[in-house]
Amino acid sequence: MFPGPLGTSLAGQALDAKIWSLETIQIRDFGIGKHRQVDDSPTGGGAGMVLRADVLGPALDHAKTLNPDAPQIYMSPRGTRLTQDMAHTLAAGPGATILCGRFEGIDERVIEHYGLTEISIGDYVLSGGELAGMVLLDAVVRLLPGVIGAPESLAHESFENGLLEYPHYTKPREWQGRPTPDVLLSGDHKKIAAWRQQKSEHITAERRPDLSDVKVPKKP
Ligand code: SAH
Repeated sequence: MFPGPLGTSLAGQALDAKIWSLETIQIRDFGIGKHRQVDDSPTGGGAGMVLRADVLGPALDHAKTLNPDAPQIYMSPRGTRLTQDMAHTLAAGPGATILCGRFEGIDERVIEHYGLTEISIGDYVLSGGELAGMVLLDAVVRLLPGVIGAPESLAHESFENGLLEYPHYTKPREWQGRPTPDVLLSGDHKKIAAWRQQKSEHITAERRPDLSDVKVPKKP
């Protein structure tokens, strides 16, 4: 599955340029017995399978030898919701080991023993942690210096400064009878910045009042 979409476009170019790197560990290599079994039925009964602690343990130990300082993360719907702040923290750090679950998940003792940080990408259940891990990686990689050509484009994005982003327009000037806002064609950069700030605050207040305490009752 990896690098999957992370091997294309911005993240892919940065991977080729060695701005970041990715090492995948196949937990089956640590599987048990002739069939390299990695899972077993849940103790106490119930549906599904659980990834075994005595398989994940050696896999995580191996990961530690590759990047001893990396925080060990388990992608999990029970985890703390991924935020832009977390992406910034990880981008500034030494990398990460990301454990991707499957089936019903993993033996709880692995989380306890390794002090895994559980991170969720949202309140829904995926069939595996790989896509969630890719979401996390993509959010982090694009923040690394040199990945995005125009770094100033990062500063105004949604969730930076507790705001959602203002609306964008491009050519043509009029489309389906809809004009581009005049102010954006004025060439007055101060006025444009003020308009964008106002739009940002308004959209945030309307859609995500939880993000900031900016209150903008009227449409700009
Ligand atoms: N039985 C678990 C869900 C297991 S889903 C529960 O009810 O909480 C299988 C795997 O997919 C999980 O181990 C986890 O690694 C991954 N996964 C599923 N949903 C996710 C989410 N919202 N965020 C991050 N990882 C998720």
